[in-house]
Amino acid sequence: AQDRVFNFAAGPAILPESVLRKAESELYNWRGSGMSVMEMSHRGKEFLSIIQKAESDLRSLLSIPSDYAVLFLQGGATTQFAAIPLNLCVQPDPVDFIVTGSWGDKAFKEAAKYCKPTLIWSGKSEKYTKIPSFDDLEQNPHAKYLHICANETIHGVEFKNYPTPKNGLLVADMSSNFCSKPVDVSKFGLIYAGAQKNVGPSGVTIVIIRKDLIGKAQEITPVMLDYKIHADNNSLYNTPPCYGIYMCGLVFEDLLAQGGLAEVEKKNVKKAKILYDAIDESKGFYRCPVEKSVRSLMNVPFTLEKAELEAEFVKEAAKEKMVQLKGHRSVGGMRASIYNAMPLAGVEKLVAFMKDFQARHA
Ligand code: PMP
Repeated sequence: AQDRVFNFAAGPAILPESVLRKAESELYNWRGSGMSVMEMSHRGKEFLSIIQKAESDLRSLLSIPSDYAVLFLQGGATTQFAAIPLNLCVQPDPVDFIVTGSWGDKAFKEAAKYCKPTLIWSGKSEKYTKIPSFDDLEQNPHAKYLHICANETIHGVEFKNYPTPKNGLLVADMSSNFCSKPVDVSKFGLIYAGAQKNVGPSGVTIVIIRKDLIGKAQEITPVMLDYKIHADNNSLYNTPPCYGIYMCGLVFEDLLAQGGLAEVEKKNVKKAKILYDAIDESKGFYRCPVEKSVRSLMNVPFTLEKAELEAEFVKEAAKEKMVQLKGHRSVGGMRASIYNAMPLAGVEKLVAFMKDFQARHA
């Protein structure tokens, strides 16, 4: 539609237009129920059908094995930084962290309150532009789990494959690349993601956890952070973020209708390639600092050789209805987030703008 912008925000982020239209059409009266999803009892049959369908569609999308639970929680991925050690560790259990960006670093610092995390690799000295080689990692054989952030939203660094933890338990923050490509869930003990980048509005946090890991929380664990409480109650222990879960369900339906995550990945690869190519072929006018093999398909950070032009770039792009291109305040430069819902046309328009901007300012 003409009045919509191309929203390159890192999250909350662009949602599929078809999903917004569908939600609009059902907003006032959901499927003849006489009420909006926002007004429904979370224990009524209507909402139960919504949350059950959302879960089963997500299970299909990611081929989630039956020995994994899917939890729809609140508090954002940030709450999981604490919930994970509270549920998986007994103080002072050792845990290993690979930190490839500022989200992993935050998770590491929060975990330190509830277990004994060791930073076995950090990309900080190289400004978070790399993923380590897995062979050289010095893992603690007694670590309860190995934590990674699968895609660093700010730095644009993405794991393309995964390290094998010494004790068999890998934990991943997939907030910013959740459902952007197929993932072999069985490689992980736990996957978590805030919804507000690829699969819905903020307010929903999804946890996928191997069932045998549930039920061993530290005694001090608040009920709201205890996976057993939520698993035993099918994410309905207290009032869940009903409308957000409904929106996630619409997104899952849409991803399945596109042919599933293998098809979605193809589109994401294509979009990312034309953007990275434009950067790499700009003769240094634009630059992406991230090592090529680990560049994110979702978040594309880049700088301008003439840094003084960055504000102008953002301003002119906004005039052409491409918004939220300013990089994170901690790193500066630009960042284009091109999640599942960003159409190819949006990336093509950005690339055309970048070339034109360069021609005018080189
Ligand atoms: N992890 C990653 C990778 C993120 O991108 C974010 C949010 N930008 C967070 C964690 C924190 O998520 P929330 O704001 O939902 O707590």
